[in-house]
Amino acid sequence: MINLEVPKKAKALVNQARQAATEVFRPISRKYDRAEHAYPSELDMLAALLDGLNTSGEGGAGAAGVRRGDDDKGGNRNGGNLLTVLGTIELCWGDVALLLSMPRQGLGNAAIASVANDEQLARFGKLWAAMAITEPDCGSDSAAITTTAIKDGDDYVLNGEKIFVTSGERADAVVVWATLDRTQGRAAIKSFVVEKGTPGFEVVRLEHKLGIRASDTAVLRFDNCRVPAQNLLGTPDIDTKKGFAGVMQTFDNTRPLVAAMAIGVARAALEETRGLLAEAGIEVDYDKPVNAQHAAAATFLRLEADYEAAYLLTLESAWMADNRKPNSLEASMAKAKAGRTVVDVTLRCVELAGTLGYTEDSLLEKWARDAKILDIFEGTQQIQQLIVARKLLGKSSKDLK
Ligand SMILES: Cc1cc2nc3c(=O)[nH]c(=O)nc-3n(C[C@H](O)[C@H](O)[C@H](O)COP(=O)(O)OP(=O)(O)OC[C@H]3O[C@@H](n4cnc5c(N)ncnc54)[C@H](O)[C@@H]3O)c2cc1C
Repeated sequence: MINLEVPKKAKALVNQARQAATEVFRPISRKYDRAEHAYPSELDMLAALLDGLNTSGEGGAGAAGVRRGDDDKGGNRNGGNLLTVLGTIELCWGDVALLLSMPRQGLGNAAIASVANDEQLARFGKLWAAMAITEPDCGSDSAAITTTAIKDGDDYVLNGEKIFVTSGERADAVVVWATLDRTQGRAAIKSFVVEKGTPGFEVVRLEHKLGIRASDTAVLRFDNCRVPAQNLLGTPDIDTKKGFAGVMQTFDNTRPLVAAMAIGVARAALEETRGLLAEAGIEVDYDKPVNAQHAAAATFLRLEADYEAAYLLTLESAWMADNRKPNSLEASMAKAKAGRTVVDVTLRCVELAGTLGYTEDSLLEKWARDAKILDIFEGTQQIQQLIVARKLLGKSSKDLK
């Protein structure tokens, strides 16, 4: 049976992550928001600590811990996905952009952890891997990918451009989505690990952004870039019946993670605002109807209710992944709810805090800027809702676009 209390075995991890968020992330949060594109070297030590947590097989925080268990021991498992989600929430309470900048915790690591075979996991598991799906003419509709991967002897030759790649400059490798054969549609799309320094792989430029400014976002070009055939993650077979299943499986693990990032940021804003309301003499009373409370307290209670719903959905979707239950629907529900909630919560908190919410004297304005991306990457709000609708109505992507 599902039980959404924080499991006992996660308590130490949650405490450690909270401590790192408080003592490492928060003190440098503003510094790297201002110093866009500068690498936060303070993260190196913390990254080594996370490596330790992840190699213990228990999951940690950041994307490297996610993996679908192969063994089926039965019973209720609180595994790597749930623990990683819980750790991620705490670290993003500290600073989401800094978590995205953590070495070896990229979304490409989640792809590797989700779909790599054991040999690939041994080869790539220690690398820091970014994830490159988006192209100038392909965003939400990832089936429209034009980057090609053509088999040539023992290699694949990649050609194409990828944009908005998180950690695209700093990571050691990039998981690149490319098509083996554009005439065969989505079934021909596969992911490839391309290591930095591979001839033909170039970082073209970095973007300037609204939020998560500590995280680098790069444009990448692949020009006759040759990678060994063994760098293809999953099967090279083009199975038109199975379609997109191989590469899409990654999302079942990464969407709960992005939802967890949103939960962490929303919680930070709520805690800060609760303190400010208390200083202003406004009490939030859980025993009184909202219509009998101060308008600010009533707003706060509504935000907290949304936050709780997003939190529970996120835990459920990660728990399902740990327990080998199909979770595409729940992962999209969690991502949609958490993405929407963090944008609403952070903006409302700016509003509730008045002028203080809009100045750099508090982090509220930063969290409001950081929030929006969590409703965009790994599938926008609209795309998550489309997926939920398709699943609930039993429609295919052809029926409901
Ligand atoms: C800071 C940042 C970091 C990123 N990091 C990465 C990364 O690491 N790797 C990566 O591959 N990509 C990354 N992205 C790209 C991100 O995943 C895409 O921006 C996102 O998928 C949307 O694609 P798009 O921008 O092309 O928008 P479009 O697909 O052009 O969509 C534009 C708007 O139309 C809506 N829309 C599209 N189709 C439909 C539909 N069928 N029904 C209803 N509404 C629809 C969308 O929801 C959106 O609001 C990043 C983006 C940003 C801004």
